[in-house]
Amino acid sequence: MKIKYGRQEITKDDVAAVVDVLNSDLLTQGPVVPSFEKVTCEYTGAKHAVAVNSATSALHIACMALDLGPGDWLWTCPNTFVATSNCALYCGAKIDFVDIDPQTYNISVEKLKKKLEIAEQNKNLPKILVPVHLSGQSCEMKEIKSLSKKYGFKIIEDASHAIGGTYKNMPVGSCFYSDITVFSFHPVKIITTGEGGMALTNDSILANKLRQHRSHGITSNPKEMIERPDNEIWNYQQIRLGYNYRMTDIAASLGLSQIKRLKEIIKQRHKIADRYNQELNSLPLRTPWQHPDTFSSYHLYIIRLDLEKITKTQPQIHDELCDLGIMVNLHYIPVYRQPFYEKMGFEAGYCLESEGYHREALSIPIYPTLTQEEQDHVINTLKKIIV
Ligand SMILES: *Cc1c(COP(=O)(O)O)cnc(C)c1O
Repeated sequence: MKIKYGRQEITKDDVAAVVDVLNSDLLTQGPVVPSFEKVTCEYTGAKHAVAVNSATSALHIACMALDLGPGDWLWTCPNTFVATSNCALYCGAKIDFVDIDPQTYNISVEKLKKKLEIAEQNKNLPKILVPVHLSGQSCEMKEIKSLSKKYGFKIIEDASHAIGGTYKNMPVGSCFYSDITVFSFHPVKIITTGEGGMALTNDSILANKLRQHRSHGITSNPKEMIERPDNEIWNYQQIRLGYNYRMTDIAASLGLSQIKRLKEIIKQRHKIADRYNQELNSLPLRTPWQHPDTFSSYHLYIIRLDLEKITKTQPQIHDELCDLGIMVNLHYIPVYRQPFYEKMGFEAGYCLESEGYHREALSIPIYPTLTQEEQDHVINTLKKIIV
């Protein structure tokens, strides 16, 4: 029996929804993508949603829509997937990292404040900050938003883990405290479209730019087109640089079917998390601390080992669990420790909190179809191994 740290759930309804599209006339850019966008807007409260083929693409066009370019800085935290920072490099911008909070493992508002004060003096303030809602627990967006007003940077929320979560009783994705929010629909995330992502915003100008960047930088809106002679056909014009980042109707139909179950999915994830919270209480480890302003989607359940009380190392515990079929994982290696980033000049020791976390954290299985039996097996094995 192999138990992964996360996996998708595909129901009969999901399959039927996809088959319906396969039997229809339009496989891409049909009616289902806008339906999926509309339902996601209704769920989150955001005014506009732009579905794309991955969260990575969504991050890229979000940076483009906010005019990130050479000479600009994008800041994020190191405790994330590499895509969060790569989007800066796609735009030719420079990347820097703010260390994490020791309790939430999200970006530290204190450290952000200090770094901004220094950057203001050195005249290298960021153009964009990307807070990442690790495991589905929102960052402290109110504080971050007020800093953005003081220092003039834009905010892209990387909510790849966080659809279905809330912050101050508002759905993550509402964009109340940000310019753009990004979701991922990779199979391991909360809901899936196979590969897929979405960028949400309340700003109609940004939404229009996001749509153009999604599709080659092309418009067919006569109001946006340059005047050309009447005796030539100009049914579309390219007015900026874009890509083909579109989501297919096939993928969107799966997302549309899945999002209907979102509340139920989050409920199941909480049930599993609550049980871990109780059962793992007595072990030499920290269960995930929850900020009172947040309601997590629990994409991940991250335990932090108290290595002073354990005879084994974190890699030993990781390997022993995997050998027994419990496929734990680590989220995340600090991005700047990746060889590609070290080549850019980053060195070990840059963000000590993130590095300490890296040596102690493990993501244990959590997903809606994890049975009670399977969870018992995980709990009992952890109790046996963590000594
Ligand atoms: C999964 C993930 C991404 C990338 O998502 P894709 O849809 O696979 O491109 C970006 N950021 C974070 C934090 C993620 O977990």
